[in-house]
Amino acid sequence: MLHAALLTFAVLASPAGQAKPATNVKDPVCKMDVNAKSATVVVRGQAYRVCNKHCGEALQKDPDKFLEKDGSVKAEKKK
Ligand SMILES: [Zn+2]
Repeated sequence: MLHAALLTFAVLASPAGQAKPATNVKDPVCKMDVNAKSATVVVRGQAYRVCNKHCGEALQKDPDKFLEKDGSVKAEKKK
């Protein structure tokens, strides 16, 4: 017995400019500590905290250098 329940498809239509909030605690570029008050830049739909705009620019210019494929910050993985 199949009850024809209407499936609501969750269409993730996120508005332009909407990025996932930053969670990193280290600047991906210079590895400095960052916090909620730090500036953020958006790379591939994910926001990242950076210490200043120069690091932000470097991150946006060459994200693969500083980020893993899943978007996590390489600098935070190193012991
Ligand atoms: Zn920095």
